[in-house]
Amino acid sequence: MTFEKPRRRVKRVYIHCSASDHAHHDDVSVMDQWHCKRGWSEVGYHFFIKKDGELQRGRPIEKTPAAQANYNSGTIAICLHGLEKPKFTDAQFETLRELCAEIDEAYDGKVTFHGHCEVAAKSCPVFDYREVLDLDAKGRLGAGSQNSVSAVTAPDPDIMLRVGADGWRVKALQKQLTALGYHVGQVDGDYGRRTRAAVLAFQADNDLDTDGIAGPKTLAALDAAQKREVGEERQAAGLLSLADEGSRIADASVKQASAGGMVAAGGALGVVSLVGETMSSVREAVSPFSGLLAEFGPLLAIAALAIGGFIVWQAVRAGRARVEDHRTGKTS
Ligand SMILES: [Zn+2]
Repeated sequence: MTFEKPRRRVKRVYIHCSASDHAHHDDVSVMDQWHCKRGWSEVGYHFFIKKDGELQRGRPIEKTPAAQANYNSGTIAICLHGLEKPKFTDAQFETLRELCAEIDEAYDGKVTFHGHCEVAAKSCPVFDYREVLDLDAKGRLGAGSQNSVSAVTAPDPDIMLRVGADGWRVKALQKQLTALGYHVGQVDGDYGRRTRAAVLAFQADNDLDTDGIAGPKTLAALDAAQKREVGEERQAAGLLSLADEGSRIADASVKQASAGGMVAAGGALGVVSLVGETMSSVREAVSPFSGLLAEFGPLLAIAALAIGGFIVWQAVRAGRARVEDHRTGKTS
């Protein structure tokens, strides 16, 4: 589904139920008939959610609804088919969450969600919409506020989001990663390679198992996480954290760089020790080289310096390319 923001002003979203559990009422066309009998031009709700979770469109979103007497202006009205609390289905709730998450995103978290019962002496929509949508006291959607993912998923310890997953939970995860400074590309609700890369980076930064799967531990850590220092931290620690993530190329380039650095340092110390006779302590530090130095002289030291420098240069170059690929999302 793709929610399209109307040009009219919208501040609130109201949730309703159809007040019937009859199968032959499970369609927006029935609501249309009922509402026409009341003298309205068409169904008063913008959306209707069937028991099987199918989302149907009712009144065009551009028009003000006829759903909450005296409270229609500036609203969107959603109706779930049902009357008795236990007869609403999980499929309906999933669709409702997805729809509301889209609306919330379209309005940057500035709309609030309410039950019809808040503005009328009715029990509509009967089911616990606050819990289903994880609303805060003001009616803001859980998935849109700071504690998005884990607040929504906490009741379910079996949640495992991985490549191939999609839906509102993934979207909430992507939003939270983005807010924390991990790039997921488009916040589209599809758990693809970029989302996996962001999860991996987050896991590496937070000492979690780097499996690229957002399970209960990762989701809980996301909730507790501080916003990451993107610029500097990413520049400086990029290679090291990539190595943690298990990227073999980056890992090898880190190791290669240290090895090259040691060889170069050895060469440099060799030169220093030859030049400065007083630096006996330095000579001691390079004692493994001193035998060789005695035999081959400064040539070896200079060669070591050159070779070490070259190895470092190569490693840094390879590492930088890897980090760049990671940043631009070429690799996961
Ligand atoms: Zn209602």
